[in-house]
Amino acid sequence: MKLFALIGNPVKHSISPKMHNLALKGLGLDALYTRYLLEDGSKLKEKFLHLKLDGANVTVPFKEDAFLACDEVKGIANKTRSVNTIVKKDGMLLGFNTDAPGFLLSIKDFTEIKSALIIGAGGTAKAIFFALKEQGIEVEVLNRSQKRLDDFKALAKTYIWEDFSPKKYDLIVNTTSAGLQDEALPMPSELLMPSLKKAKYAFDVIYHKQTPFLKACQKANIAYKNGADMLLYQGVLALELFLDNKYKKEELSFYMKQAF
Ligand code: NDP
Repeated sequence: MKLFALIGNPVKHSISPKMHNLALKGLGLDALYTRYLLEDGSKLKEKFLHLKLDGANVTVPFKEDAFLACDEVKGIANKTRSVNTIVKKDGMLLGFNTDAPGFLLSIKDFTEIKSALIIGAGGTAKAIFFALKEQGIEVEVLNRSQKRLDDFKALAKTYIWEDFSPKKYDLIVNTTSAGLQDEALPMPSELLMPSLKKAKYAFDVIYHKQTPFLKACQKANIAYKNGADMLLYQGVLALELFLDNKYKKEELSFYMKQAF
């Protein structure tokens, strides 16, 4: 039997195990996806091996630890320096980042994007930043405070709220957790509303509710999406890797979608 797990802290509320198990069962595979609450990120590799896992997804706050734990890191994960998918192959731990390509798949209906503003400067912002940059899109980053912005300084124009003046971006992405457990906007309304009114598309990484950001998008009358498809596609791409690319994305997505 193959064994996979979600490793993070917390892991209790994640729907990833449900998504993966629906697909593993639907495909009739002798495999199980479980969850593991990790306390210490430096023990990630030790735990992975001890649990005899064949693969794992890694979530908050251990994606950077996962990057360091892998024997080899593939693709865009080398740029984000964060790994959300680990696959064991020939005794080696291979690390991938499927958040970035998962985001791109989830916005495939948004066409002709040339410029984007990312609100927030954390781990998810990084994945989305490199995903958009790889598409040749001009990206700027806005955050409420300076510290996390320093990681982007050499790569893009960055702003804290006080430095920002609204201008036209084709796409605005909220990667902050504002609105996740409160009714906060990710930036002051007097800066956000004029920016949204000039934009073509908006995206919120939060997936389970109509956030104040998405309500503002509705008010600005632009096309927008929440993060559900991003979550789905990062999972589809991870399972594709776990199963050695033997299954089509459409087939995996058919089963995984049923978890929502
Ligand atoms: P991080 O902790 O790495 O970064 C959080 C960012 O949000 C920081 O820039 C922080 O600013 C900002 N922030 C937090 N609260 C507020 C607020 N009230 N107002 C303005 N800015 C705020 O988090 P992650 O990048 O790991 O996760 C961010 C979100 O992405 C979470 O909601 C998570 O659930 C979601 N997510 C969704 C995924 C999907 O597939 N749909 C995948 C992964 C994550 P500062 O630097 O000033 O503290």
